[in-house]
Amino acid sequence: MKDKKFKLIRSRLLLPLDEKIGLETRIEDGYVLTEGSLVKEAGAFKSEIGERILQECGNELEVIGAEGLPSAGKDIPCLDGVVLPGFVKAHGHDHESPIIGIAKDEPLTDWLDHAVNVFSGFLNENAKELEERFGVSANTLTYSKAKLDDIYYGITSALTHHCNFNKYHLTELVEANGRAGTKIIIAIGGQDRNYDPRILDTVSAAVGRLDDCAAEFGDRERTWIIPGPDQVFSNSAEMIQALKEWANRNGTLFHMHSSEEPNTTAWFYSEYLCSPVEYLHRVNALDGNTILAHQVNNTPIDLAILKETGTNLVHNPLANTILGSGMPPLIEMMELGIPVAISTDGSGSADSQNMLAAARLASQYQKAFHPGRPAAPGQQVLEMVTVVPAKMLKLNTGSLAEGKDADLILVDLGRPNLTPTRVDNVVENLIWASDGSEVRWVIANGEVLKDDYRFLTLDEAKIKRDVQKLSELLIEYRSSREEIKATGVRKE
Ligand SMILES: [Zn+2]
Repeated sequence: MKDKKFKLIRSRLLLPLDEKIGLETRIEDGYVLTEGSLVKEAGAFKSEIGERILQECGNELEVIGAEGLPSAGKDIPCLDGVVLPGFVKAHGHDHESPIIGIAKDEPLTDWLDHAVNVFSGFLNENAKELEERFGVSANTLTYSKAKLDDIYYGITSALTHHCNFNKYHLTELVEANGRAGTKIIIAIGGQDRNYDPRILDTVSAAVGRLDDCAAEFGDRERTWIIPGPDQVFSNSAEMIQALKEWANRNGTLFHMHSSEEPNTTAWFYSEYLCSPVEYLHRVNALDGNTILAHQVNNTPIDLAILKETGTNLVHNPLANTILGSGMPPLIEMMELGIPVAISTDGSGSADSQNMLAAARLASQYQKAFHPGRPAAPGQQVLEMVTVVPAKMLKLNTGSLAEGKDADLILVDLGRPNLTPTRVDNVVENLIWASDGSEVRWVIANGEVLKDDYRFLTLDEAKIKRDVQKLSELLIEYRSSREEIKATGVRKE
């Protein structure tokens, strides 16, 4: 079927998350009309509105959830769901989906060596055989699975921190995202110290890679390239400075991991005699265009620097708790006015891309940690996976209003766990009662990516089958290999 210019979705509840009408506005019987890749209208539905849209859009209209065009405005089906903006993932890694469940119950650095770095090495050493077996490179397969996971959970925009060996595989990621129909900001990872020696860069090689990638992919639709040195401990001052200068010259964001694990942060302090945040501040890497992932361990000086410089933070509660890294002082950070988004991190550390689960855990932890205070309520954490990260990533998304990108999802309210849902408890149910799997429709840039639970842009069955096999081959490889000890504090 030819893609129609206009798409109309009507649902029992609508959450526009639009600052102009109030972020907390909840609409009963709402609709969104898209034109091309943008939202044309969003608001409360009336049959006169339906009549007008049918008349104005004619055969160029697709009504979501309807067989063909309804004959009158009042016949436009009202889906039993809540429509809201697609989730915006401000920190993740698209190479980790095949390693879910590996080296669990291990702290971060051990997990990096025992799961992530083994997997990267496996793909690299067996690239040719794997490509012959699957008909596409194993990296392409891995990135396609990541996009499947994103769409499954309603993520329409993502910042992908493309670390380790993945920095050599930009083309595959750009193409996987292109096919999936999502938006991607690719932070190209890199390091020049305290890491697997096979992937250490020089400053000129790292800057050259960014120049090449920006030249090759910079004008692709829905794709942005930015510097993303992996960790503060794995990048020298010269490297961080050069990459931040590249970001400033090219008007891009700058992204890196910081202060994730207590041991590594303490080791960093003893090695470099300052905290990672102080280190970054000294080399002028902190400002409103810098986004740090994690920032779990903070001194009062760190918080003052983050506030003063306007640095953005991404909190990843699933990864931080699963890897036993601890949790950042979220409430204190927000009270200081430091912008904080909530995200999942990669599938390997979070074990899913469930943004609602991340939002729930962030809230739940703060409530337990600050007894007696109404810490991180549902509305606030919902904003932290939509409108807040959209602003942080400078994307025209995260809200449903005229002129915004047509990125929206419908969460099915017909599920037992979401019954009863009404206008007064819909946000609370999304955070506290949803299991994340109720995303029934996903529209991104005006294109339907998931239609009544069916993936339209990706071959779900093939991707799942191939990734299952890939993971079995990885386990065989892993059992016959010597332990890696190459990362940061474990370096020998
Ligand atoms: Zn990460």
